Amino acid sequence: MDSLPTLTASLKAHNLFAKKSFGQHFLLDLNLTDKIAKLAAPHPAVIEIGPGPGGLTRSLLNAGTDRLYVIEKDPRFLPLLADIKNVANGRLSLQEADALKVDIAMLDTHRPLRICANLPYNVGTKLLVNWLSAQPVFWDRLVLMLQKEVAMRIAASPNTKAYGRLAVLAQSVATTHIAFDVPASAFTPPPKVDSAVIVLDALSDEKRYPDLKMLGRVTAAAFGQRRKMLRKSLRNLASDLNVNLDIWLEAANIDPSIRPETLDIKGFHTLTDTLTRLGSTA
Ligand code: SAM
Repeated sequence: MDSLPTLTASLKAHNLFAKKSFGQHFLLDLNLTDKIAKLAAPHPAVIEIGPGPGGLTRSLLNAGTDRLYVIEKDPRFLPLLADIKNVANGRLSLQEADALKVDIAMLDTHRPLRICANLPYNVGTKLLVNWLSAQPVFWDRLVLMLQKEVAMRIAASPNTKAYGRLAVLAQSVATTHIAFDVPASAFTPPPKVDSAVIVLDALSDEKRYPDLKMLGRVTAAAFGQRRKMLRKSLRNLASDLNVNLDIWLEAANIDPSIRPETLDIKGFHTLTDTLTRLGSTA
């Protein structure tokens, strides 16, 4: 890695610049990418989404990743990434693809895999929800740079403005903690908002909530109308599944007049379990 030019020189040599359409905001400070990489590596097999100029890629290799798989949608970056591959002693695999269309669990047979990424903001939440819902679970840790506001929503507690669908889904399958904030000025070009690195560690099978699909439907309905009481916001979902709403909430022992942000994660699990039970007998 030491033989490579600086990231800025690399971008210049390949005549590369950031494109808005790919959500490109680059980290060109290797001290910062090292700090992120150390949260994910050393590890036998790591996946990085959106390597761009490859700062985090270099850091993940330096931090002791045996096999690193990177998926980049913008073809302009492949020659630059090939320069890193040339000095990575067979440890780096490059793929030009849209990460939303790749089954990344298939990239390596090692379990668990790790995912580390400075995610494009426009696809970050969608990718995260895909990984949270994946069955069987193929990762033990996700290290993600996201908009600070999104990171706060993932780690939020009940009775806060940030608490919502993302917090319930993420904390049903993982512990979450914000490792550190990163100001917008750390990126080239700077985005409009600050970012944060969040770490999600997969819960053990016994602790993990098994049905993220149904939990996703319940939380989408509940938080879709977050100012309304549950008896209103869950009405359509109950009727779609042919379940009596009053019986559902009573069987779950949940007060129909509460608003969704006051119901803790366990409460959402009870709500979902009860719906599944009643739905299967309806
Ligand atoms: N990781 C680099 C860094 O830290 O400097 C670049 C981060 S930039 C915020 C996001 C990167 O994701 C860009 O390189 C962009 O081209 C890539 N990207 C955007 N959408 C993508 C997608 N759907 N699949 C894979 N990569 C994508």
